Amino acid sequence: MQNYSTPKNSIQQVYGKIILLALLTHVLFVAVFLHSGFLPLVFYNIFSILFYIGIYLLCYNKHFRGIVILIHLEICLFVTVSCYFLGWDLGFPLYLIALSSLVYFCPFKRKYIPYLFSLFEVVLFLSIKIYTLNFSPVFLCSPGFSSTFYIFNSGASFTLIIYAAYISKVSAVLTEQTLTKDNSVLQDMVAHDALTKLWTRRHLTSVYKDNVQKQIPLVIVLTDIDNFKRINDTYGHECGDYVLSEVSQIMLSNVSKDTVICRWGGEEFVIMMPDMGIKNTISSVEAIRCAIDSYSFRYNGQTLHITMTFGVSTTDESTDMRELIRLADSRMYTGKQSGKNTIITKNMKYPNT
Ligand code: GH3
Ligand code: MG
Ligand code: MG
Repeated sequence: MQNYSTPKNSIQQVYGKIILLALLTHVLFVAVFLHSGFLPLVFYNIFSILFYIGIYLLCYNKHFRGIVILIHLEICLFVTVSCYFLGWDLGFPLYLIALSSLVYFCPFKRKYIPYLFSLFEVVLFLSIKIYTLNFSPVFLCSPGFSSTFYIFNSGASFTLIIYAAYISKVSAVLTEQTLTKDNSVLQDMVAHDALTKLWTRRHLTSVYKDNVQKQIPLVIVLTDIDNFKRINDTYGHECGDYVLSEVSQIMLSNVSKDTVICRWGGEEFVIMMPDMGIKNTISSVEAIRCAIDSYSFRYNGQTLHITMTFGVSTTDESTDMRELIRLADSRMYTGKQSGKNTIITKNMKYPNT
């Protein structure tokens, strides 16, 4: 089954873009701080550039959760260093706000880790506020410089938040698509028998009810492989399985599209078809009987002869499916008693020998 948390490639997309954005931002900061003569910040930002290039090239795809933690720690350190040198007013702490929601994208094994990160970022945000209220920054900036930085930093923080929200939406849609796909796979499994690929009882019953509701006259044929136990006993269970799936394919290739064939259980099948009158019913079932009877089943170099016995009932007799199955079953039993490889309807036996 699929994992319905945020898909790994979505998380990689988010953090991949963040690394790119961080790289560009740090390159810009190096240029600006170099121009302003804030050398410690130039060095710090060069370290950040090398850090991002390093983690991207070395292990972005391998140690994904570790990388996410490192990115968060680097941004926390960057904000702290920047506020220490330049103060609160340039808007660096805004990155902590953007960051505190991003950590939830990464599916940590320990569910509390994102909360710890958010808490850490909130505490850091408030600590920096308290520190900068009490201590002056190392470098004093002009109001114009501060405002320009504030606008840039708030823009970058908003970009992070909006991008994260966008990816969140995309991954919700992806999750829904995955669920829908899994659901249809499950429905398919419920409706089909694993060995023969025929419909299951559950599916047949629901199609039967639909047809009866629409007052479509139906024929129910219960059929069973003759002397099947002997095949299992003589050639082994695997050979029995081979016969079951081969018989199913032969039946399928001898009926029209509006016929439903279901594996009723073991080596018993139910064929449900629209009632087109007794003549057509007999010729349809006879086509299946003859196809099986004349087919050379080959297993491990052995040729096997398989026959089946059929009991037929129609919705003229009852609309209760259980009653129709019971009638078909008792007719099939009559067929077994009278030599097998035969079709028994309400009034007749085919072939008429
Ligand atoms: P009859 O002609 O009267 O129908 O006799 P039979 O031997 O076919 O009937 P019986 O009910 O005695 O045997 C049915 C056998 O089908 C018994 C069971 O082991 C076998 N069987 C049921 N399901 C499977 C299956 O999925 N695979 C295999 N290989 N055998 C199965
Ligand atoms: Mg049998
Ligand atoms: Mg049986």
